[in-house]
Amino acid sequence: MEMEQMIDKYFRAGRLPHIWCPGCGNGIVTGAIVKAVDTLAIEKDNIAVVSGIGCSSRASGYLDFNTVHSAHGRALPVATGIKLAEPRLKVIVVTGDGDATAIGGNHFIHAARRNIDITVVLYNNNIYGMTGGQYSPLTPTNSRATTAQYGTVDRAFDVTELARGAGATFVARATTFHTQLLSDVIAQGIQHEGFSIIEAVTACPISFGRQNKMGSAPNMMKWQKEHGVMLAAYDKLPEEQKVDKFPIGILYKKLAPEYSAEYDKVIAKAQKGAK
Ligand code: SF4
Ligand code: MG
Repeated sequence: MEMEQMIDKYFRAGRLPHIWCPGCGNGIVTGAIVKAVDTLAIEKDNIAVVSGIGCSSRASGYLDFNTVHSAHGRALPVATGIKLAEPRLKVIVVTGDGDATAIGGNHFIHAARRNIDITVVLYNNNIYGMTGGQYSPLTPTNSRATTAQYGTVDRAFDVTELARGAGATFVARATTFHTQLLSDVIAQGIQHEGFSIIEAVTACPISFGRQNKMGSAPNMMKWQKEHGVMLAAYDKLPEEQKVDKFPIGILYKKLAPEYSAEYDKVIAKAQKGAK
């Protein structure tokens, strides 16, 4: 399906144009989600999209699925409730780096630990964009932010390692340059039965790019092209060449009991009165 047809089908009438700045990568990530849903031919009513707060979290207002625009950092508890109440739904969380790993960091690790069947698309623009460029837990060390005028001292999380360590069973990364890959890994994350996280490396030319002299939006995408390397090729790189590169593709996948299905078994036991 052409993107124009997808816009008519999957975006709410009258909600566009969006609020995102010119050159923002958020539209590319949101487009990749829509493309994944379209490829999987999932009925719109069988999808719930839950967001927190931030530039990326505005996506829930534009998309014509069952949607909730929740509170800052709280998308995952809301999504967990939805999945437990309506297990038939494919639940997708759209969130940013600050929303998911700072304010919502505790929810993030526990949702991963439970292996609940939710797909998280984490728009990683390395900054709090909406509030003017404060640094987040995914801002690279030494980067400038409005709250770190001389560069951050904090070490950034690798959110894919964090998710894997916490128990996520599907972990992938792609960028807004690698759009086909991004859509493919989101589709595979949606199909995976368990907690899936897709880190979508995206460009915020306004709040991150300007402060860090990264140039225009196309320059930032060129940076993604030059630094994102498919996992198999990345693994073969000498250690010194890995320093400024990052792996993309499916980074980790395994099968494990899924939380809402396990919870249903407990409910069935309780109904029978058997311990
Ligand atoms: Fe996009 Fe950054 Fe503008 Fe937010 S501030 S809409 S992330 S470019
Ligand atoms: Mg952000």
